[in-house]
Amino acid sequence: LVAGSLERLDRALLAAGLDGCLVTSRPDVRYLSGFTGSNGWLFVQPDRRILLTDSRYVDQAAAEAPAWSVAIAPAGLMAALVATLDGPARVAVDPADVSHAIWQRLPTDVEVEWVPADSAVRALRRRKAHSEVDAIRDALALAEEVLLEWVADLRPGMTELSAAADLEHRCRRRGATAMAFETIIAGGSRGALPHARPTEEPLAVGDRVVVDFGCVVNGYCSDITRSVEIGASSDPAWERIHAAVDEARCAAIAAIEPGVRASCVDATAREVLAGHGLAEYFTHSLGHGVGLDVHEEPRLATSSTDVLEAGMVVTVEPGIYLPERGGIRLEDMVLVTTHGAERLNGLGTDVLRVAEEA
Ligand code: ZN
Ligand code: ZN
Repeated sequence: LVAGSLERLDRALLAAGLDGCLVTSRPDVRYLSGFTGSNGWLFVQPDRRILLTDSRYVDQAAAEAPAWSVAIAPAGLMAALVATLDGPARVAVDPADVSHAIWQRLPTDVEVEWVPADSAVRALRRRKAHSEVDAIRDALALAEEVLLEWVADLRPGMTELSAAADLEHRCRRRGATAMAFETIIAGGSRGALPHARPTEEPLAVGDRVVVDFGCVVNGYCSDITRSVEIGASSDPAWERIHAAVDEARCAAIAAIEPGVRASCVDATAREVLAGHGLAEYFTHSLGHGVGLDVHEEPRLATSSTDVLEAGMVVTVEPGIYLPERGGIRLEDMVLVTTHGAERLNGLGTDVLRVAEEA
């Protein structure tokens, strides 16, 4: 539950000419009500706050969402929703979250007009409250501590899968409730795939490894990528690429401030890499918002129409991928402040080196 979110939602609905909204996505439900159960919808009107859930969550709903009237739905959320409807209203439903099957089952024999409208809650979630930024800081600090501890124990010969399992286990032991997404550990030529899955391949001396992971603390995600090298020696060509990617990262972070177009920040990173003759090898967008979801608004991309605002938390993650050779990506998390940007990472971006011998 984020303080003040309901009042801001009421104002947003009023401004959009809507009488209420049906909130269906789990992060939206959590953001607005505090309820974390796996099955729940919110029906919101200025004078009505109804949490629809099922009998497994009677106690949890009362404890987590004390300000809401809880409607238990023995015959499913839709039936419970129908039972709560009274009087004419224009009610927003989020087409990005509601399936076609649910859309077709929304009752039409009532005076409610269902209006497909992008989630007003998702829009509110773009700018983080202090409590949310604190949770993100905690999730990132935990990930960084784990990363250093994990690298110190990593040895050549470990497979990517077992290295990933070890990393995730350490996150959980330190208090993460989940991983934010599927951990990416991609050694050698597999690092050329920006979203490689860990394989049974062993990490070998001389490998350059893309490590991209994040964990969840208090519902909020972290997301970090670093380059790990197995063994003492390094390749000067890759050292130059690492330096170029890092320069792009720094330039992009320096370009972040409120009022700046997200596409301009993306372009800043791209220009740096173009200056090193590497533009064609940066094959994805620069970054994304992070919060209750690991990928949320805004998008830092060439095609993005988002404009940065104070309170947004975004990743900056330039990468260079040489087909069949490997890749380097460096990913930080950044808070847009009232005057500029604050890098949330405590850890630097140097290569993390794994000893050849135990
Ligand atoms: Zn990442
Ligand atoms: Zn990311």
